[in-house]
Amino acid sequence: MPAKDRLKVLVADDSAVYRKLVEQAFTDANYLLLVARSGQEAIDLISEHFPAIVITDWVMPDLTGIELCQRIRAGSQNPYTYVIILTSVSEKENVVKGLAAGADDYLTKPFHPEELLARVEVGRRLVELHRQVGAKNRLLEELALTDSLTCLPNRRAIDEWAPRQLSGAARHGFPFWVVMADLDNFKSVNDSSGHDAGDKVLKRFAEILKTNSRRSNICGRIGGEEFLFILTHADKENVASVVERVRRQFEEQDFFFGNRVVKVTASFGISGFQGEQGLLPPDFSSLLSQADLALYTAKHRGRNRVEFAPE
Ligand code: GH3
Ligand code: MG
Ligand code: MG
Repeated sequence: MPAKDRLKVLVADDSAVYRKLVEQAFTDANYLLLVARSGQEAIDLISEHFPAIVITDWVMPDLTGIELCQRIRAGSQNPYTYVIILTSVSEKENVVKGLAAGADDYLTKPFHPEELLARVEVGRRLVELHRQVGAKNRLLEELALTDSLTCLPNRRAIDEWAPRQLSGAARHGFPFWVVMADLDNFKSVNDSSGHDAGDKVLKRFAEILKTNSRRSNICGRIGGEEFLFILTHADKENVASVVERVRRQFEEQDFFFGNRVVKVTASFGISGFQGEQGLLPPDFSSLLSQADLALYTAKHRGRNRVEFAPE
């Protein structure tokens, strides 16, 4: 197994004899062993290498195994570090303290090399399980915030992101714009070309939005054929020209369904907060309703157009 794929195990012991014994126990094992001669050295190696498993002596001149354990637990628990304390038999009554400080297991000196390896193996299983659960959780979190059709953020993601940005806009004085977009007569696309064709149109609109959005902005699909686009750090002319570009690119897009060329357009309503410093920002929900009203006006005035909410 290449070194980079091997799980890292750190052993911390001030006794050269015990360091050697542990190293010997690991001779044929598939782990990458790191060796620390003191508590401080252990801490330095941990912050540099994030070992999955730490085997620590109970008493070292600068730091006890308990203190080391506490330091590890006080740090980030991601990735999880499995801690095994090595104690001499006479210190065995201290084991309770070690486990209470966050150690996962203990072993008494002199230890049996195979038992040490077997216990490290238990640690490896736990650490790997921990990593799998962590990866699954991150995936679930991402899925919960993503619209599966367009892969854009969904309503929930925007609801999490926007209010924080809005208070940032008030605090740091930058403009914050909410663009609500709705495809025009979209029902007729589905009706005449089929639902799959409708889905292709939605995906294409999402791509156009995405290519016109910067890193500090967010665009997402909030339902059916409705999209939200939030732009920050831009003035009104800027926003008008970006949204106008989106409108035009979509209007110019030809869709080929069956043997027909189909055209689809979208309408846009925009509301904004200018980021006047000292001014309390409006609720995100009230900016949404203003944008929705402006969108209604755009529909009313003939669709395929952009309207700003009255100031
Ligand atoms: P308007 O210009 O007034 O917005 O008219 P419209 O037809 O776009 O509006 P309406 O709200 O009547 O219809 C929206 C349609 O969007 C109805 C529904 O079938 C379709 N739709 C909603 N979600 C999806 C989807 O995920 N995929 C597809 N293909 N169609 C969808
Ligand atoms: Mg519509
Ligand atoms: Mg609609």
